[in-house]
Amino acid sequence: MREYPRRGGPPAADLGVDDPRHRSHVLVNRMYFAGFVLLGFFTLFDLFVTGYLVDATVEAVTLVLISILWLRLQRTGDLDGTGWAASAIAGVAILAVVLMGSAPDGVVAWVPLYPVVPFFLLGCRRGALCAGIYFVVVVGAFAFDLMPQAQGFAMPTVFNVGGALAGATAILYWYEHSRETAAAALRQAADTDFLTGVANRRSVQRTFDAEAARARRHGRPLSLLLVDLDHFKRINDTHGHEAGDAAIVHCAGLLAAGVRGEDTVGRIGGEEFAVLLPDTDAAGAVAAAEGLRQALEDRPVPWRDAALPLTASIGVAVLGPTDDFTTLFAAADDRLYAAKAGGRNRVVGPPPPTENVVSRQKVLDKDGGVR
Ligand code: GH3
Ligand code: MG
Ligand code: MG
Repeated sequence: MREYPRRGGPPAADLGVDDPRHRSHVLVNRMYFAGFVLLGFFTLFDLFVTGYLVDATVEAVTLVLISILWLRLQRTGDLDGTGWAASAIAGVAILAVVLMGSAPDGVVAWVPLYPVVPFFLLGCRRGALCAGIYFVVVVGAFAFDLMPQAQGFAMPTVFNVGGALAGATAILYWYEHSRETAAAALRQAADTDFLTGVANRRSVQRTFDAEAARARRHGRPLSLLLVDLDHFKRINDTHGHEAGDAAIVHCAGLLAAGVRGEDTVGRIGGEEFAVLLPDTDAAGAVAAAEGLRQALEDRPVPWRDAALPLTASIGVAVLGPTDDFTTLFAAADDRLYAAKAGGRNRVVGPPPPTENVVSRQKVLDKDGGVR
């Protein structure tokens, strides 16, 4: 698994389209593109047409600064750092052009556009913070007559610029807030099993990717349990599909209640569950699995007036140096199969480490002369 700079994140190409940072990367690249075009145009325009050399200099410096930021973003993937820096640079650049007063009156039209930059680059809350600070600075600059362009303006003009800035900020805030809320709800739905409310297979796999990277970084173990309910078809056949569904929900609840907060329980198939146990070695994982198996055995499924007994078989695997999700899953699945073959309602863990087998063999060789 690839390691990324601590403060940064994966480059855009490594992110799935459903990752919220993917949208940020796309948006940020579009914004930088718009910035390059606007600043490039106005630099040349002020240089060769209007002759506002000071403004052309500010625009050229801003163009260079955001180019550096864009390159930094491509290198580090650090959306937050470049977002803050770009928001600050955009605010200072717009204000500088307005405050210097060499440009025509109409330059104040850019002031209400500013909040778009921090809202798009930094999201709802931090965008609101930047826009709020900007509003205070702009109003202060008007109030203390720091804007040569605004001097002599009628009060309605000042109110129009301030009002447009406040209006743009409010609209961007509401828009960004409702979008973030909707995106979070969609992500939650996409990661959740509809019947039981625990994680679904996709979410388990994503959690595995994150936990495996963390386990490797810190040299900690990571275990996976595969839980399959025993003779589940019988429940469906005898009591109906609805009872089967109730049994699946009941078992998911028992599994979720039986693990630690940092563990992940997911439904990965009809009546099959996966449990990810970070920071847990083989002995700990087998003990946890045994506890879950016992809990399922002890708590039959309440169904109408009856209590339907139900057990589960569990296969346990511990992440090895070369494992990915597929190989770890396959190892746990093999042991689950062994648990079924061994009579069901049991846990099968990983074999003891090969070192022990080798050293036992050596002892036999030395003492007993075997081989
Ligand atoms: P064993 O695992 O012990 O070998 O036996 P089993 O009877 O559990 O075997 P198998 O895994 O082949 O069957 C699982 C059954 O679970 C098949 C399917 O009808 C049922 N099933 C799968 N998903 C659902 C579900 O969402 N609701 C209900 N009610 N049943 C489901
Ligand atoms: Mg099954
Ligand atoms: Mg089964």
